[in-house]
Amino acid sequence: MAKTIVLTGAGGVLCSTMAIALAKQGHQIAVLDLRKEAADAVAQQINNDGGNAIGVAANVLEKDSLETAKKEINSKYGKVDILINGAGGNHPLGTTSNPFFQLEDLDNQTEGFKTFFDLDPKGIEFTFNLNFLGTLLPTQVFATDMVGREGCSVLNISSMNAFTPLTKIPAYSGAKAAVSNFTQWLAVHFSKVGIRVNAIAPGFFLTDQNRALLTNSDGSATPRGEQIIGQTPMGRYGTPDDLVSTVNWLCDDGAAFITGIVVPIDGGFSAYSGV
Ligand code: NAD
Repeated sequence: MAKTIVLTGAGGVLCSTMAIALAKQGHQIAVLDLRKEAADAVAQQINNDGGNAIGVAANVLEKDSLETAKKEINSKYGKVDILINGAGGNHPLGTTSNPFFQLEDLDNQTEGFKTFFDLDPKGIEFTFNLNFLGTLLPTQVFATDMVGREGCSVLNISSMNAFTPLTKIPAYSGAKAAVSNFTQWLAVHFSKVGIRVNAIAPGFFLTDQNRALLTNSDGSATPRGEQIIGQTPMGRYGTPDDLVSTVNWLCDDGAAFITGIVVPIDGGFSAYSGV
């Protein structure tokens, strides 16, 4: 059955791929993004391919903006059946320069060098807000349409770093751990009113956000990029298409008894101890 699906952050790399794939299943798609032009471009691509989508500007951190988006979606497509909370990301001010703190770091005067002690609360706050609050607020707004109806669900985007934190990114790791925890909490909370809540935890995907961290300008891997591939038993980065079948599965009514799970899509990264 065709559903109305809202995806936040769907002007971005991973969620635009999900939006396009879900449209191919015959669903009506609301492509939400802070960047209206990016949302419109994805919606246009879907419509050009014979699908049905609208691009809508929305800030996942502002309830008014989400309510305005919801009015537009409701008037075009009726009630929302599925919400995919895709907007998220890290901030450099919540990131340390090195994986381990060393005694000599105390004397390091290099411009921009950051230890744990230099982390800026603004970077931590930005990252927690975007990932956690940016998942909770859209759910408050769009899940009101789902209460007591059949076939409705919420899909959150967690990350590898939620299971075991990655070095250098304490804020992003903590924020995604909060997203996984919230997924379980909400699954229980909504279990009596027909709303399933699940999450996917993508492993490493080469995108604009992390390209400079993982590849050099000549395309070769940075030490961190090499380390990631070495820790990924399948020996490669994921591609956005690797997410599609799991997203289709969790959004489908065939998953009617599945709620509160976080599915790793990571080429074996989270299963591997490195030894
Ligand atoms: P991306 O940067 O390509 O897309 C994120 C989108 O969110 C952008 O289009 C951006 O404009 C939008 N956005 C940012 N702030 C917003 C706000 N306040 N309101 C509305 N939209 C906003 O990132 P991506 O790599 O496609 O990541 C998508 C999701 O997957 C994120 O939650 C990210 O944390 C998660 N994730 C990514 C990876 C990876 O390797 N790329 C791995 C694990 C999890």
